[in-house]
Amino acid sequence: MSAETIFTKIINREIPADIVYEDDQALAFRDINPQAPFHVLIIPKTAIATINDINDSNAAEVGHLYVVAAKLAKEHGFADDGYRVVMNCNNHGGQTVYHIHLHMLAGKAMGWPPYQDTLKV
Ligand code: AMP
Repeated sequence: MSAETIFTKIINREIPADIVYEDDQALAFRDINPQAPFHVLIIPKTAIATINDINDSNAAEVGHLYVVAAKLAKEHGFADDGYRVVMNCNNHGGQTVYHIHLHMLAGKAMGWPPYQDTLKV
């Protein structure tokens, strides 16, 4: 179960988005605040709130997000140079929209580790 978010409104065309890919299970659209030359969000059409809500019954839909990422990488010419896919979870992960989404970032070399603060464990 999941509350409706802005991403459901994008799926239902109630608000606009720059859609780059759609099929029966997934939608991909450009992030409004891009962090790379190519930054899209790949989302399942089923509203799954967080990674904590992934289970055996929706695992195929989540796996499909990676199939879409691989397709987009080939189509847009990023497959060989590489790219990053990230899914944030809850507050410490930096999640702000509670409908899971795979960030796909491409078009520049990215640093690792991704955090800016010194890691204190
Ligand atoms: P996260 O912080 O991982 O939950 O990522 C949410 C992402 O959604 C952020 O990168 C936002 O810039 C992006 N975002 C929020 N609203 C929209 C929108 N209406 N269209 C496209 N991207 C959006």
